[in-house]
Amino acid sequence: MSLFSAVEMAPRDPILGLNEQFASDDNPNKVNLGVGVYFDDNGKLPLLQCVQAAEKAMMDKPAARGYLPIDGIAAYDAAVKSLVFGADSEPVVSGRVATVQAIGGTGGLKIGADFLKKLNPDAKVLISDPSWENHRALFGNAGFTVESYTYYDADKRGVNFDGMLASLSEATPGTIVVLHACCHNPTGYDISPEQWDQVIAVVKARGLTPFLDMAYQGFGHGIAEDGAVIGKFVAAGLTFFVSTSFSKSFSLYGERVGALSVLCENKDEAARVLSQLKIVIRTNYSNPPIHGGAVVAAVLNNPELRAIWEKELAEMRVRIKAMRQKLVDGLKAAGVKQDMSFITSQIGMFSYSGLSKEQMIRLRTEFGVYGTDTGRMCVAALNSKNIDHVCQAIAKVV
Ligand code: PMP
Repeated sequence: MSLFSAVEMAPRDPILGLNEQFASDDNPNKVNLGVGVYFDDNGKLPLLQCVQAAEKAMMDKPAARGYLPIDGIAAYDAAVKSLVFGADSEPVVSGRVATVQAIGGTGGLKIGADFLKKLNPDAKVLISDPSWENHRALFGNAGFTVESYTYYDADKRGVNFDGMLASLSEATPGTIVVLHACCHNPTGYDISPEQWDQVIAVVKARGLTPFLDMAYQGFGHGIAEDGAVIGKFVAAGLTFFVSTSFSKSFSLYGERVGALSVLCENKDEAARVLSQLKIVIRTNYSNPPIHGGAVVAAVLNNPELRAIWEKELAEMRVRIKAMRQKLVDGLKAAGVKQDMSFITSQIGMFSYSGLSKEQMIRLRTEFGVYGTDTGRMCVAALNSKNIDHVCQAIAKVV
């Protein structure tokens, strides 16, 4: 009798499972729109020029690899604060933001979740319906009961905003509300700035704890435009959590570069919160790795490299938007009768296509076009070579 004899096989991760299926598909026209990764027009994962320049400078001056401080590289944390809140913003100037380097955006969420569990163990967590699937699992594993607030409206092809407000209005004080700061994953539908004002009013009136997940800053309308929602929460006088990911915006997926920022009421509170975040980190993985954080800090803190990054990020953003338009046009040309223009009203990497599970399975098995069973497609993986095949395939299944 082994210690592990009763261990059950866990279900496969739906996205990674899809990747495996894609890898073993011998269809020469196969297209992977499953995983949330940006590919360039040649179907290649980009290695940004700004990253290469930063790495070259680091190679020219090799540094030894001691342990980082528990909260990471100081210059990195400072750069994240400036990016998220604004360098001259009141929260940064007054020193009331606690920021720690994290292992990707996922790490930022997890540090925040573990800290919140100690702070408010009985709180419930609300995530959008639907949400990035890992939100549920991550907060669930941190010990929280996770429920959802109304978000997607399939019939209307958009956000059920009244429903969203109603769900938030019913939440008990202290409830942790996970909000997608921009580029909602998986639907691609964001709420408008005016709707954010209304959400913030409810969050404030109900005494909810906002946790903003910012995994795509710069992929929507621009770095400042996507970050503007943070300014709204600050202006409302709220304290809140923000997780940051540079996986997509720096194309540094495998370096695992992210952060958690907690906006506190004052500097003294921020120091105490930081000390607790450090305990969470220390007892999980002690301190973060150097390379990715050093690259991002070097780019964000150097005006020349930063200008290159902003240009490269804008290119990715613009290319995704162009692909959305090509998809709408291509589907029409391929004979799709339904109005597919909703694809261009979505933003970020993903499109909820509205296709059924059966249609998604047919796309995969008959045409080698891989999206998730929920109908989510990563439009950031479309390019001038695969778009026609994708449009033809969709036209045949709808
Ligand atoms: N939040 C959302 C909404 C995401 O889509 C992702 C990445 N797919 C993450 C967090 C995690 O980012 P990272 O890969 O940097 O951990």
